[in-house]
Amino acid sequence: MLLRHTTKEVVERSALTINPAKTCQPIGAMYASLGIHSCLPHSHGSQGCYAYHRSTLTRHYKEPVIAATSAFTEGASVFGGQANLLQAIDNMFTVYRPDVIAVHTTCLSETIGDDIPQIIGKATADGKIPDGKYVFHANTPSYVGSHVTGFANMTKAMVDYFAESSSGNRNRVLNIIPGYVEPSDMEEIRRIATEMGIGTIMFPDTSRVLNTPLTGKYRMYPEGGVTVEELKKSGSSLGTVALGQLASGPAARALDSKCKVPCEILGLPIGLHATDIFIDTLHRTAGVNVPESLTFERGQMLDIMSDMHQYFYGKKVAIAGDPDQVLAMTKFLVSLDMYPVHIVTGTPAGKKFEKALHEAVKEIPHEVKIRVPGDMFLLHQWIKNEPVDLLIGNSYMKYIAKDEDIPLVRFGFPILDRIGHSYFPSVGYKGGMRLLEKILDAIMDRQDRNASDINMELVM
Ligand code: SF4
Repeated sequence: MLLRHTTKEVVERSALTINPAKTCQPIGAMYASLGIHSCLPHSHGSQGCYAYHRSTLTRHYKEPVIAATSAFTEGASVFGGQANLLQAIDNMFTVYRPDVIAVHTTCLSETIGDDIPQIIGKATADGKIPDGKYVFHANTPSYVGSHVTGFANMTKAMVDYFAESSSGNRNRVLNIIPGYVEPSDMEEIRRIATEMGIGTIMFPDTSRVLNTPLTGKYRMYPEGGVTVEELKKSGSSLGTVALGQLASGPAARALDSKCKVPCEILGLPIGLHATDIFIDTLHRTAGVNVPESLTFERGQMLDIMSDMHQYFYGKKVAIAGDPDQVLAMTKFLVSLDMYPVHIVTGTPAGKKFEKALHEAVKEIPHEVKIRVPGDMFLLHQWIKNEPVDLLIGNSYMKYIAKDEDIPLVRFGFPILDRIGHSYFPSVGYKGGMRLLEKILDAIMDRQDRNASDINMELVM
């Protein structure tokens, strides 16, 4: 029993988090930066932060994650990190030759109060930024929000620094801000838009960056990622479709106010209904028809849902994760007649989000416990008091799964102990089918395991 100290009795805590269902801002910022072509993320802080952020991303994607650091020592901690960052910019452009450097701050540089725009200005004035190359930044103090906030801040910074207003007619292109999803999800989102005949600028775009093939040749800057030229043109697009209020909302709104590009902010397209909404939005915004190929995939997903409904019906689920993912997954489970009864997000997401979550579960004939933000210790306590049939969450949920002997479907970030998430999507109808398969496998494997010899079913 790894979590044997988790008590069944719930005592309210006000100043203590145990097993947080989140991680720190710069991780999300680093991930978003990698979605720009030929970009070197730069962590402005100590080596410890940078090593942690890189290793978490490397362990999740099973790919070498590149980044650099200002490598603060005691001196920089007292006098500020300007000298370190100026030297780092010089070194990076000389040695690693990226097109773009994306600087994010850390707790330490935020506490010192380093003024990054001023330092970038000095680097420009000192001629440390070669022609045609760029340095931009996002503030990512980790004592606020989580990795989702960091991702949102870095994505918004792409708009703040690069998007240029249209001087004439708008391009017949849609911006898509995919949210904090996997490279496979970004690829699937673009495939759906391409299938509909829509030209897109997607940012960030980590597909073909963090899910690359093994070729025997190391490429520091893989072929994927949105280019700075595309980011500049995002201000001239017809509109923006942003997926995920928390991760994508700030960038979409910034683009609307900076360049007057109208935006629609949707939930993540996870599940049948959410994918319908996404495709309908593309259809309306771009003025194109939905092709037969997508209708076909929809029908396949619906077929699985209806064929296997008896296995989903009434199953109680506990979910932990990031707000955009948790809300989308909750709605999906409710549409399958499952009962998400314990729900926790680690990231503070506000009253509007909490209201949306309550709205999503209001028809469930069962009491539902929701905590925003909460932690996995509390989720475990709830499970001890009201057991569930299934857990959905990241790798850290495996300890609860083991102690309570409940099947776990890995979903969200980080997944450190399984593969697949980088290559197979969870979004769209195809992704929905994959999620259905994972949920069914977990439920039916457990049914097989628990069946007596006489009740063991061959055909299910
Ligand atoms: S929480 Fe702050 S100090 Fe800790 S790793 Fe993240 S940025 Fe660094």
